[in-house]
Parts: sequence; C-alpha cells; structure tokens
Amino acid sequence: MDFELSEEARAIQDTARSFAAERLAPHAAQWDEDKIFPVDAMRAGAAIGFGAIYAREDVGGSALSRLDAALIFEELAAADTSTAAYISIHNMATWMIDRFGGEALRRRFVPRLATMEHFASYCLTEPGSGSDAASLKTRAVRDGDHYVLNGSKAFISGGGVSDVYVCMVRTGADGPKGISTLVVEKGTPGLSFGKQEKKLGWNTQPTAMVIFEDARVPVANRVGAEGDGFAIAMKGLDGGRLNIAACSLGAARACLDAAREHMKVRRQFGRTLAEFQALQFRVADMATELEAARLMVQRAATLLDAEHADATLHCAMAKRFATDAGFAICDEALQLFGGYGYLKDYPIERYLRDTRVHRILEGTNEIMRLIIARKLLGA
Ligand SMILES: Cc1cc2nc3c(=O)[nH]c(=O)nc-3n(C[C@H](O)[C@H](O)[C@H](O)COP(=O)(O)OP(=O)(O)OC[C@H]3O[C@@H](n4cnc5c(N)ncnc54)[C@H](O)[C@@H]3O)c2cc1C
Repeated sequence: MDFELSEEARAIQDTARSFAAERLAPHAAQWDEDKIFPVDAMRAGAAIGFGAIYAREDVGGSALSRLDAALIFEELAAADTSTAAYISIHNMATWMIDRFGGEALRRRFVPRLATMEHFASYCLTEPGSGSDAASLKTRAVRDGDHYVLNGSKAFISGGGVSDVYVCMVRTGADGPKGISTLVVEKGTPGLSFGKQEKKLGWNTQPTAMVIFEDARVPVANRVGAEGDGFAIAMKGLDGGRLNIAACSLGAARACLDAAREHMKVRRQFGRTLAEFQALQFRVADMATELEAARLMVQRAATLLDAEHADATLHCAMAKRFATDAGFAICDEALQLFGGYGYLKDYPIERYLRDTRVHRILEGTNEIMRLIIARKLLGA
C-alpha cells in the first residue's frame, strides 16, 4: 500500500493548481455574482486536458486515471467549486460516450467535447423521478432509423447551454432494463429548455429542464445496446460521485486554509483566535475530517481504476462522507470567521453555498446509504 502520489500525479496536481489559481480563482466571486458560465476559462482548461480527463487519447481524451481526476477536481474546486463541478459533469457525460458509444459515435462527439468546443450535459432526473431514477418516464419510440422522444428532464446542469445531452430514456418496459441512453444534439427539432433555475449556489453553471416534444433522434445516437442505459448511467455516476466528492474536498480545503489564516490575525479578548484552545480543537477536527475524506476519495478512485468489484460501494461511501464532511468544514470555517464569514467580501459563504448541493445530486446522501446498506445486507 503506497500513500504517496507518483511524480506524474504530482505534476498533474501542480498543473491543475496553477491553472486554477490563474484562470479561475481571480474571477470566481464575480462569475458567481453575475451568473457567468465561463466558457473561455473552461476551454483553456480543456486545452491542457481537463475536458476529457479519462477518455481515450485517439479521440482527444487525456487517458488519465480516476485518481488523477480526483486530484484535478480538488484543485479546480479550491478555486471555483461551481465551475469545477460543471467540468466534472461534462467529463462524466463525455466518458459515457467514449466508453460505451460505438466507434462512430465516440469519433463523432468526443473530439469536440475534449476541447470543450462543445459542452455536455447528463440527463437522468425527471420531475417525477429523482432518487428513484429507474422509474423515469421519458419515452423513446422507434420509428424507422429514429427514436421519437417525449417527456422532460429536470435540474439539468448545462441545460440550454450545452451542445450535447446524454439522455436516459425509456425504450422498453418499466424498470431499469427498459432504459436506453441516447445522445441528443442541441438544435434537434422538438428539443427545448425550461427557464433557468434560480439557485442557492452553483451560479456559474446553468440548470434547466430539458423538454422533448416529438424530438427525432437517430438510432445511430444510441450509446450501448437498447436496455443498457440504466447500467451505463450508473457507471457514469461511480466516477461522477468521486469527482463531486473531490470538489467538496477542494472547497473544504480552501475554507480551512482561509480560517487558519484568519485565526492567526483576528484578535479578541487581547489574544488571537488561534490562541483559544476551543478553536484550536475545531481546526484540528476540520483537518482530520478533511484528511479522512481525501483518503476515502483517493482509495475509491484507485478501486475504480482497477475496476474492482467493490468500486461502486467505495464510491458511494466516499461521496457520502466527503460531501457531508466538506460542507461541515465550510460551515465551521464560516463560524470561525464570525460575521465576516457571512459577508460576500470573503469567499467562505460562496463555498458553503456551492457545496450544499453536493449532498443532494448524483444520488442524494440518503441514496448513498441505500447503496452501501444493500451491499452490506444484501437487501
Ligand atoms: C443544482 C442541481 C443540479 C443538478 N444537476 C443534474 C444533472 O445535471 N442531471 C441530472 O440528471 N440530475 C441533476 N440534478 C438532480 C439531482 O440528481 C436530484 O435532485 C437528486 O437525485 C434527488 O432527486 P429529487 O430532487 O427528485 O429528490 P427526491 O428523490 O424527491 O428526494 C427527496 C428526499 O427524500 C430522500 N429519499 C428519497 N428516497 C429515499 C429512500 N428510499 N430512502 C431514504 N430517503 C429517500 C432523498 O434523499 C431526499 O432527501 C441536479 C440537482 C440540482 C439541485
């Protein structure tokens, strides 16, 4: 067991850290305030390999490991959690096409996703099916060499802005085996979008409903076989959950660092905050929780890289723990900043708002417990 990162992994981490410091950190607060989707900055990230981190090289991917991805997302999120999280979703959708799409499909879509000339969305959730994703109702009926889609997807990150929508739709009977995955391109007649949702955080990325009204999608756009869509969606989420967990690590680390600095200079009762033992213990706990969360994320990533039978279990455990711990650390940091933590003059409140949703999406943390318990109890 080797807990040291390889030289190559450290170089990737350094590259991501420098990119984040230069291209994301200086603008993150303004993008959050103005709700800017930072296209140019993301394309600059794609130019150094962050658009298709774990897709194959022959279609422009970086062919890096899930551990590398976790390192990258921690660094990006330490600067701008919301933008990092969107890049993680784009990577998840891109990987699904690369891994499960046929040769023609991956060659058609992945190169422009790798450069982020095109942006991707992942469409699973519907108004009536969130946690119970396998009950989704968007129907795709075969008509010659097309499917005709009717239904709607809710809460889609990148909705309305993305060019490529990786959609889970029902082509067969009820239940998970009746679901297929289709790539739907922006501009498809019958595809439209709801209003942009107003949110607590994640303001640098749009969220909207994706609506299908007799939308005709070529059969050639199907990812994998008919009926494999739910399994493909879940495979995507294994890595997606780690990336979101890594985004929580980055936000928590940034908050912890800021709190430590603040405690050394802020004086009350004639002493710095850092001199109060009650607060020293809080920081000790924050750092310990962060370290535990990081170890879980990195271990789950190595299991996913190894296609280990327990990878899904460990991804669920890591997502549950790291997103809960990450949010709690941001909240503790805000407390240590006192009233200043609540102001937009400091970045803590933004990290807090951005990490809150990590406990909800890509499977809520209750659903993570369901996955873990199923494995433990066979229930
Ligand atoms: C900002 C944002 C972006 C998102 N982006 C995307 C996206 O890009 N693509 C996409 O497909 N989806 C996306 N989602 C949707 C997200 O994945 C869902 O919101 C999430 O899966 C929960 O579904 P729900 O909101 O319908 O809640 P529900 O399923 O209605 O759950 C409500 C509550 O009940 C709990 N619960 C439900 N069932 C159980 C159970 N069996 N046992 C215990 N507790 C249970 C849940 O944990 C939750 O706390 C996004 C959501 C948000 C807020």
